[in-house]
Amino acid sequence: MAMNTVTETPINLLALSFESMASLVAHLGWPAYRTRQILQWMYQHRVREIARMSNLSRKDRETIQECATIGRLASPTIVRSADETRKLLFSLDDGLTVESVLIPDGKRLTQCLSTQVGCTLDCRFCLTGQMGLKRNLQAHEIVDQVLTAQDGLQPGQRITSLVFMGMGEPLANLEAVSDAIGRLTDPDWGMGFPDRRITLSTAGFSERLQSVARLGVNLAISLNASTAEQRDRLMPMMNRLHALPDLIAACRAYPLPSRRRLTFEYVLLRGENDSAEDAMRVSQLLRGIRCKINLIPFNEFPHAPFRQPTDDAVATFQAILRRKGYDVFVRNSRGRDVLGACGQLGRRFA
Ligand code: SF4
Repeated sequence: MAMNTVTETPINLLALSFESMASLVAHLGWPAYRTRQILQWMYQHRVREIARMSNLSRKDRETIQECATIGRLASPTIVRSADETRKLLFSLDDGLTVESVLIPDGKRLTQCLSTQVGCTLDCRFCLTGQMGLKRNLQAHEIVDQVLTAQDGLQPGQRITSLVFMGMGEPLANLEAVSDAIGRLTDPDWGMGFPDRRITLSTAGFSERLQSVARLGVNLAISLNASTAEQRDRLMPMMNRLHALPDLIAACRAYPLPSRRRLTFEYVLLRGENDSAEDAMRVSQLLRGIRCKINLIPFNEFPHAPFRQPTDDAVATFQAILRRKGYDVFVRNSRGRDVLGACGQLGRRFA
């Protein structure tokens, strides 16, 4: 590893992968176990200053302080919803902002993570998609959302689940997302989240589903349509890249571990994809796939091109799929009043 001198930009220790940290430690002439020690301080104790790494000698701390810092993001602006959902607005080093949402539900506390500023794709029902892609997040910017959220909790409180369903398409930034998941799950030097408590949601990069399988986390597919034409209308770019039949074939080929199942997310849009015929087609499409289905009634936002489905349409859609033997849940989005709900990230709360 090329070492920076004190006059150059300091190394951000948080931006280093395990291998890069090991190279730095070797370069400094330290024993290999220092790599784990430093990573544990950052991911398990969540320290923001090298000075707090108390199992490093004073001399070693001074040595590394000469060339490196822990580049944590500045404290986020927190916007609380009436339903206790909290939206965290992070300012990145280049002035862009990214959002994360904490969703309490009884004893559970789920954090929804962003992986891009804006999004590569253009799903018509999504506010983030309207922003276009500003840039991919780096692995440490993804992990920092979790570190900082955990810092802000009461003693004894902890985040119980992570979902990659915030701004961005995770599989369009797969390298950083894989790296981040490694840091979030490693029980030795990382944050130690069980992989079964992490869900990655994709709009349908079918060729990359096998990579998700290797990560060991749960997979959710944002389906939203039962025909190619419908998906083309609602998710035009995704459907051009990976057509619906290819996506369903990739789901059928997905190597699901025992006791796990895929999740299909389906945003219900009034008069677009919420009819009884749509429900029947979804049932046929997914036949034989071990899965559950989450129905998400659309959240209207200012100038939205779609409308929220009626309660009757939601209930009928759910009943049809249940009669066909599927586990179907209606997920009423949380945090609507702060634009923290599904498909609503990306606009500053004003
Ligand atoms: S729904 Fe997801 S993949 Fe589609 S534009 Fe929005 S953030 Fe991107």
